[in-house]
Amino acid sequence: MTKKTCGAARVADVGAAIELNGWVNRRRDHGGLIFVDIRDHEGVTQIVFDPQHPAFAQAETLRHEDVIRVHGAVRKRPAGTQNAKLRTGEVEVAVAELFIHSRSTVPPFPIAGDEAVDENLRMEYRYLDLRRPRLQRNMRLRHNMVKAIRDFFDDRGFIEIETPMLIKSTPEGARDYLVPSRLHRGTFYALPQSPQLLKQILMIAGFGRYMQIARCMRDEDLRADRQPEFTQLDVEISFCTQEEVLELMESAMKFAWKRALGEEIVHDFPRLQHADAMQRYGSDKPDLRFGLELREVSEIFASSEFKVFRAQSDDPKGAVIGVRYPGGAALSRRDFDALTEVAKQFGGKGLVWIALGAGETKSSAAKFMTEENVSALRSALDAQTGDALLLFADERSAALAVAGKMRNEVAERCGLRDPQRFAFAWVTDFPLFERDEETGAPTPAHHPFTAPRDDQWDLLDRNPLAMRAQHYDLVLNGWELGSGSIRIHNAEFQRKIFALLGISGEQIEDRFGFFLRALDYGAPPHGGMALGIDRLAMIAVGEENIRDVVAFPKNQAARDMMMDAPSHVPDRLLRELSLQIKDETGK
Ligand code: ASP
Repeated sequence: MTKKTCGAARVADVGAAIELNGWVNRRRDHGGLIFVDIRDHEGVTQIVFDPQHPAFAQAETLRHEDVIRVHGAVRKRPAGTQNAKLRTGEVEVAVAELFIHSRSTVPPFPIAGDEAVDENLRMEYRYLDLRRPRLQRNMRLRHNMVKAIRDFFDDRGFIEIETPMLIKSTPEGARDYLVPSRLHRGTFYALPQSPQLLKQILMIAGFGRYMQIARCMRDEDLRADRQPEFTQLDVEISFCTQEEVLELMESAMKFAWKRALGEEIVHDFPRLQHADAMQRYGSDKPDLRFGLELREVSEIFASSEFKVFRAQSDDPKGAVIGVRYPGGAALSRRDFDALTEVAKQFGGKGLVWIALGAGETKSSAAKFMTEENVSALRSALDAQTGDALLLFADERSAALAVAGKMRNEVAERCGLRDPQRFAFAWVTDFPLFERDEETGAPTPAHHPFTAPRDDQWDLLDRNPLAMRAQHYDLVLNGWELGSGSIRIHNAEFQRKIFALLGISGEQIEDRFGFFLRALDYGAPPHGGMALGIDRLAMIAVGEENIRDVVAFPKNQAARDMMMDAPSHVPDRLLRELSLQIKDETGK
């Protein structure tokens, strides 16, 4: 008797006596026989119960998801009954003995297929959802990807070092999750938003090449591509240039794609400077699976009667930005009205459309659009008859941002976002600081440990917002996969950045004293990057939601639906921590 997995039996095994263990995937009673598909992590095998056999009566009681063990002989399926979709589809097992390990209650949704099921229900019964083919496939692919990444870095002399979960806050721009200390009452650990400071300290500690498949926690509002806790490939290298980091990470991605997906990416990832990406795509994470580049068409309206456009054209801070909608001339007025609403949801003031129909040109601003305007727009946007043009007028960055979102929307509607294509791209030369929308003060575009370009330190006092950083992002299909930078490795410069960010001397000491001290003991120049593994796996398997590549995700309200967490704790535990809940509503 050989023990086999449910994906193993083949014609070569015919005649062999085998043991199978697994779940009842399906049961069919047919022509006096009972057919059961038995399933485990490797696959499905058909087993057959003969009415003459003593196990038959027991087999009649089998229900979906009961867990069984069978002994029996492998035989060829009769001609015409083979199943080409199954790897085991040419054979079946004639059951000699059945043992029922455990019984299943009727599951709240079918397990054998991938029928659409309400996601809350899937998350509440995650163990059943995970049994289904889609999540089995996703988790396996994710594993293969992580394994490939680990092998790649190991091969290049990196070592994986675990960093702690209970740390002091590392700012990555999100809210910290806090853990109260019992031994040191009234004080808190922070869960890592990333291992940023620790990996920099590992460079100071002389490890040279660090990587980690690291868990990170950020208490921020959730979106389709965000979870409160996530996994990232975290990398740091001493004595490296930006170019070396980019080449390394690019090779890692190509290697992982080849190993895990069998896909060869031969071309170099395109590189875009941040300012260029904003101007051409209205986004710092452009989706390069399609063209449809934005065009600034302000000049066309320099002497227009159309006041709104002319005003933006005259104002050096304003702009009119155009997007081409291939085939968009076929849209009705009502469709364009709906599109205008979409533009408003994207934060725009609205849009002006021009439909380049075969017979006539229609426009929401027909009164003001001269023939010259239309023909200039047509050539600026490389449009053809049958296309529509969408125009956005606003302060330049706002117009670009809305037009960029509309570019993605148009591509979606035109079917240009092929999930089977993978368009990686680098975005480089980010600004070092952004202006905080509320206070107007500079805030780090990446994090405060990012180095500016070497030749720009003198701008720090004069014009910090003009400084460019040695900061790069890797983008895939319109998602930001991850960010990295060359770091500041000099305590004095690091202090200056903190001071510029408005962190007082005392706070600097309190929050970052340990790190500044470490920088004082001979810190090598260093840099690195982190890539979101969940996001990577999501795009690789063609899912649209990060929850579908995470075994036990939280829902949109950051709840674990299966364990029902977060939850209340006994008063005794709160007392031990000197904590008291004053008002659960948080008001
Ligand atoms: N710590 C950064 C992050 O988590 C990545 C890096 O700069 O290496 O986004």
